[in-house]
Amino acid sequence: MPRLAIYPGSFDPLTNGHLSLIQRGLKVFDGLVVAVANNPAKKPLFTLEERREMILEALGRNPRVEVDSFDTLLVDYAKRRGIHTVLRGLRAVSDFEYEFQLANMNRKLDPAFESVFIMTGEDYFFVTGSLVREVASFGGDVAGLVPPNVAAGLRRKFPPAGGR
Ligand code: ADP
Repeated sequence: MPRLAIYPGSFDPLTNGHLSLIQRGLKVFDGLVVAVANNPAKKPLFTLEERREMILEALGRNPRVEVDSFDTLLVDYAKRRGIHTVLRGLRAVSDFEYEFQLANMNRKLDPAFESVFIMTGEDYFFVTGSLVREVASFGGDVAGLVPPNVAAGLRRKFPPAGGR
């Protein structure tokens, strides 16, 4: 039986931190399902379709990674997929409390559910989707923090002043 895990998130947008976690996750699991959360209440910068496409493009063809989306409780999505392990990243102590609550809530909802945490590398521990959005919105350089296709997507959302 291949060992599979779901890697859920908002991916608004995909960052090099996410990519690094996917690469690390593939050392532990045979396959990953990158599951983009469809939560319009969060008013994402990129549409669900844009987020999915950017992930697919950045990953290239990789038969071990599937890109999917979900708009239900994560445990219900996991049950539907028959995959009971979820991969999450830990950046800093500040992630811990929320992730600890989430993991326990999910286990309460489904006792078969397990969360596996991988720590980010020192290169990306400060990279979050919301910080990347904020830096890009003020015209800051996000090269090196996100893959090139995401940087291009951010430039389309926040065109440089003067139309350059
Ligand atoms: P964010 O908007 O905070 O970047 P997501 O909801 O897209 O978050 O994150 C999905 C998962 O990826 C979470 O488990 C998060 O901790 C993890 N993650 C996000 N950025 C990084 C990073 N730079 N390094 C490691 N894990 C990360």
